[in-house]
Amino acid sequence: MSGTRAEGTRTHCPYCSLQCGMRVVGHRTPEVKAWAEFPVNAGALCRKGWSATGLVGSRERLTTPLLRDRGTGEFTPVSWDEALDVVAAGLARAQRAGGADAVAVFGGGGLTNEKAYALGKFARTVLRTSQIDYNGRWCMSSAASAGSRAFGIDRGLPFPLADVEQTDVLVLVGSNLAETMPPAARHLDRLRERGGRVVVVDPRRTATAERADVFVQPVPGTDLALALGVLHLLVAGGHVDEEYVAARTTGFAEVRDSVSAWWPERVERVTGVPAGQVRELAALLGSRQGSTGERAAVTVLTARGAEQHSTGSDTVLAWINVALALGQCGRPYGGYGCLTGQGNGQGGREHGQKADQLPGYRSIEDPAARAHVAGVWGVEPGSLPGKGRSAYELLTALGTEGGPRALLVHGSNPVLSAPHATRVVERLEALDLLVVCDLVLSETAAIADVVLPVTQWAEESGTMTNLEGRVLLRQRALTPPAGVRTDLEVLAGLAQRLGSTVAMPTDPEAVFTELRAASAGGPADYAGITWERIREEQGVFWPCPEVDHPGTPRMFTRSFAHPDGRARFHVVDHRGPAEVPDADFPVHLTTGRVLAQYQSGAQTRRIRELPDTGPFVEMHPLLAMRLGTADGEQVRVETRRGSMVAPARVTGTIRPDTVFVPFHWAGANRLTNDALDPASRMPEFKACAARVGLP
Ligand code: SF4
Repeated sequence: MSGTRAEGTRTHCPYCSLQCGMRVVGHRTPEVKAWAEFPVNAGALCRKGWSATGLVGSRERLTTPLLRDRGTGEFTPVSWDEALDVVAAGLARAQRAGGADAVAVFGGGGLTNEKAYALGKFARTVLRTSQIDYNGRWCMSSAASAGSRAFGIDRGLPFPLADVEQTDVLVLVGSNLAETMPPAARHLDRLRERGGRVVVVDPRRTATAERADVFVQPVPGTDLALALGVLHLLVAGGHVDEEYVAARTTGFAEVRDSVSAWWPERVERVTGVPAGQVRELAALLGSRQGSTGERAAVTVLTARGAEQHSTGSDTVLAWINVALALGQCGRPYGGYGCLTGQGNGQGGREHGQKADQLPGYRSIEDPAARAHVAGVWGVEPGSLPGKGRSAYELLTALGTEGGPRALLVHGSNPVLSAPHATRVVERLEALDLLVVCDLVLSETAAIADVVLPVTQWAEESGTMTNLEGRVLLRQRALTPPAGVRTDLEVLAGLAQRLGSTVAMPTDPEAVFTELRAASAGGPADYAGITWERIREEQGVFWPCPEVDHPGTPRMFTRSFAHPDGRARFHVVDHRGPAEVPDADFPVHLTTGRVLAQYQSGAQTRRIRELPDTGPFVEMHPLLAMRLGTADGEQVRVETRRGSMVAPARVTGTIRPDTVFVPFHWAGANRLTNDALDPASRMPEFKACAARVGLP
């Protein structure tokens, strides 16, 4: 229900995948209030959520389309008609010269399901280009790839988040949820009050690690080896749930053999984690409960720290192997899940803005899927393009021989968020036409030829799918400023100018109705979810094939999604990061987030209530002493790709061989490595070799 005038409008936060419920009260100076009944956050918000209306009425808000003069670099305000005419002419010109794939589209994991769906449809039917991908590729794709291979389907959490309170042992690998999604941290506290144990695996002693019973601090990029060592000990200690493995999985024998050489001392040599602590961790995971002697319920959750590596999907598979060997997946209060990052990271990867996907998490290479979706769109299946390039490969192909010459960007800021960012900026600048739809002049918009000002979250309605697979209605609470349009209106305006006969509705509910039909029968089946239902029911979990279907909060209780109903073990081995420290670049560099900022910071850095500290270089006192620097002094971090200067933040919470730089400000991604995971095409944001010195 939308709520009374005094209650305001019930809606959801614009930022992370928890999609906290909130009420927005008032219009001219709107305020965020708690929505206590919404179960995921029960009224709690982090400071980003409380200040989410901070961009309403901001002077930085774009309210008119802008055209940039390449000679002077100056922007000129123009009418919508003129801007859309320029864009349509530029797209048509690029395609006349270079074919359909000369135009590319880049989306975002924060776009609503309706926008992600419309973007994929626009690319495949109006532009007929295969060149579409999105920044979610850099967020959850390794877990998505591993989940699909192990379980036959990818839903970040296959159970409600609150289930983790009931588990006995929770292992968080590479997640700092106390800072990235603080309202979720209450589940850790309740779990511990019940007597459960929390394990945090992270190269930094984060706020989440402070709440842990066991803190494991491996070298960046070695989580996989730790999982191999844990499984080795579980096998050796007789802790494998043989009955479950025989009844519900395939491939264990090969995996058991593959971990036989991962004894704890070898794990220590690779990961830096003491052999005794590896034994302690395995004993905890294999433990039995008090008088009943029942197997402990174990939940393993991974996040970006484990996933954003060139070995990210194998790392996730290694931890899934641990959860499967313990007989946990599909069992009450146990299993494996991924803590998705971006607001619609889950829905954004289900409905067609990913290079290899059609709506409903269908494969673009599956003839039956193509026929189904083409039928909904009213086009011939043969007219749909095939699979395109992944996000980083797409960006680095821009303006090259045979690569796209024009790019449309929706809901993304790759100038800051792409790895090896200097290379990406060069490619963006080589384009004949760069078009950016955004609400502020982000770093990417600032180098665009055309900037189209679009509505922000509270000014439009749409659905989001949170980290649990819960489909939510984010209701419009505010009137958009004069002069802005929705992304759906932008796409419809371009489709019309390009002479397309394919319908591009601008009413988000109508788009969702079409999405339901397109997803029907697919892995992520939304057919039974209506806006009316989610307005009343506080979200419905997919798959939900019929309107009288209750939705699926818990998956895999009886079978997995592979045709034989069994989960798959996968043999994986430690390879380590693509780049490791050497004499020239002797320390590990890792990147991540801070509490008060979100992603590239395009929005949060412009909100007054959120502290904008600027970038910093976190390092251990021993490293600072070796460099002859102190807290607050400027240092230079350099990798084979670039360098940045920022103040040192000296703390004993990080490994002495590692430095950390947050990625919300320019600099961090000039340093990061663009080595890609072979399965997910995830870049290695979390580990590379660096040197640190005085500027
Ligand atoms: Fe909730 Fe995430 Fe928004 Fe914070 S940023 S209020 S944790 S949805």
